[in-house]
Parts: sequence; structure tokens; C-alpha cells
Amino acid sequence: MSFFEKVPDPDFPLEEWHMFKVFLLIEEKEEDECFPWKGRKINGYGVYNYECTWGYAHRLVWEWVHNKIIPKGAYIRHSCGNKLCQNPSHLSMRERKASQKASDFPFLLSV
Ligand SMILES: [Zn+2]
Repeated sequence: MSFFEKVPDPDFPLEEWHMFKVFLLIEEKEEDECFPWKGRKINGYGVYNYECTWGYAHRLVWEWVHNKIIPKGAYIRHSCGNKLCQNPSHLSMRERKASQKASDFPFLLSV
């Protein structure tokens, strides 16, 4: 079963069809492999345009899979070191250290 086949949470901020478009841009491979992003990239990360704003794809994937919004100040770490990877099992949330600026990993990039 695909990671992405799940019942949508009615409170999730993006409509289901947006997530479907996001999943079309992810190359799903074997469970333990990286899932490369096929869409646009900014700063080496996969990005997705939503309502004229760019957001990081891996953050969106994490939020979708975990059914929650990433808390302010937290960031999503790639355990595989591959910035373009969208495999949910390679993504983990980390709290930001006090020394890191809040703007280091924004959910939405202003363009
Ligand atoms: Zn990976």
C-alpha cells in the first residue's frame, strides 16, 4: 500500500486534489529508497506552488502523513541527506535550537 493512500483529514489545510497533484510529482520507489521529487526546485529542495506561494514539498508530505501542521520553530530533517527525497520514513521533525533563526526553514517561501 502506498504511503499516500490514506483517508484525508477534513481539517487539512490543502484540498485533496492539491495533494494528488503533489503526489504526481513524487517518484515512489521501494519502501527503503528515496522518493525523488520531479517538480520544481528552490535551494535544492522540492517546492510546490499553492495559491501563488512556494512551499517545501517535503514539509507538506510530512504534514499530510502525520495529519498535523509542523509547529512553529520546528523543521523537517532528511535522515538520508537527500534534499529532494519525499519518502515519509526519511523525514523526521526536529525542534529548532535556540541559536537557529526562525526563518531558516519556513513552510512557505515568499517569492
Ligand atoms: Zn530519502
